[in-house]
Amino acid sequence: MSPTRRFLPVFHDVLGASVLVVGAGAVGTRKIEALLAGGARVTVVAKEFSPAVEERSARGDLAAFRGAFHPDQMEDAELVFAATPDRALNRRVSVEARRRRIPVNVADSPEECTFLLPAVVRGEDFTAAISTGGRFPGAAKAMREFLEAHRSEISVRLERGRRRKRIAARRGKVYIVGAGPGDPDLLTVRALGLLRSADAVVHDYLVPAEILSLAPAKAARICFARRGKTAGHGAVMKQDAIHKAMVRLAREGKSVVRLKSGDPLVFGRGGEEAEHLSREGIPFEIVPGITAAMGSAAAAAIPLTQRGRASSVTFVAGHETDEKGGSAVDWSLLPKDGTLAISMGVRRMAVSAEKLAGAGFSPDTPFAIVENGNRPEQRILRGVLSDLPRTASASGVRSPAILFVGRTAAVMFCENTEERSDEPAAQSV
Ligand code: SAH
Repeated sequence: MSPTRRFLPVFHDVLGASVLVVGAGAVGTRKIEALLAGGARVTVVAKEFSPAVEERSARGDLAAFRGAFHPDQMEDAELVFAATPDRALNRRVSVEARRRRIPVNVADSPEECTFLLPAVVRGEDFTAAISTGGRFPGAAKAMREFLEAHRSEISVRLERGRRRKRIAARRGKVYIVGAGPGDPDLLTVRALGLLRSADAVVHDYLVPAEILSLAPAKAARICFARRGKTAGHGAVMKQDAIHKAMVRLAREGKSVVRLKSGDPLVFGRGGEEAEHLSREGIPFEIVPGITAAMGSAAAAAIPLTQRGRASSVTFVAGHETDEKGGSAVDWSLLPKDGTLAISMGVRRMAVSAEKLAGAGFSPDTPFAIVENGNRPEQRILRGVLSDLPRTASASGVRSPAILFVGRTAAVMFCENTEERSDEPAAQSV
């Protein structure tokens, strides 16, 4: 049996516990101080006391007996420590303790111990204990020093863990959550926490499987798609059916995450859903996400606003139609001195180009199309407005894509084409 396996790491509660320490030199004193710090009731037996122990004894912090060790002294002890310079005496203490089934530690003699004291690193909210089974104290010390040097990083991680733990979806409530443009790393911490604790997830077809897999395996998943875009995505539901499903799931006492691509309040009907829930008296919360326009702008290094180049940004629903089937957007009202971020069905690209030209946008206004922004298959195409229909059809642009129009859509920086070299997403979130 390996010495590191034999010793089960445990944290022993010493508050109020009777502990006998035999020996009060430098080693004994360190143990006594650690025990007193933990609130133990310490009895010390030694021929000589260190000044620190003398002082503690004078203050009444411990019971000190000057003289020889006698087994009777361990009568009420829950733990025994032997830390004298006399190896034979230490061995005797160990034998007597073991005979009485009292856990015993002998300084520098692991084979006479029934428990070992690890090297310890303490932070405000954590204790890390390191042991090599008593064989390599130098290595244990090096590990302790390493952890000590990283104490603040450990504290940051603890804080992150604490925050994550605090985020838990409440039962009977609907969370209308933005999933961002598709990369799991671009979820908010709150979205991730809610998703991880959801009983039911009602999602759009645009939310990728990688994000859905962050919900518990046992959570119910319902996919929603308009206009039958559901190949391989489960049940098709119309907006009113979605409203009913959310209300039903919440009334069943489930915590419901309504997961939408991008931000729920940007072309996501999040407003209508919130209105319906409020009418039905269902508690809800809206959690923002990175809208595809912003995610794609970042991916293509397009400053949505920039001093001297664009003083406004307009999110345009290129796909929205009025009652007569025409565009619901009044193209003539769109600012020509800002950036347009047009989300749309790709088939409408040529129509949009035509509308922009009709509204007086110059044919040499730069454009950029970001297809599958923030996803592994992302593509960026650029040109000027007069070339837009040809570029879009020649390169076979597919949904989902965002069209940026304006001076900021031209290449402005030397683009960094390096792959991101992160850990796999599941580990880095
Ligand atoms: N609520 C979402 C928009 C949903 S409408 C948001 O805030 O982004 C769907 C449109 O969003 C698509 O037609 C496309 O124009 C755009 N879109 C969504 N995800 C995208 C992505 N990863 N890359 C480019 N465009 C995307």
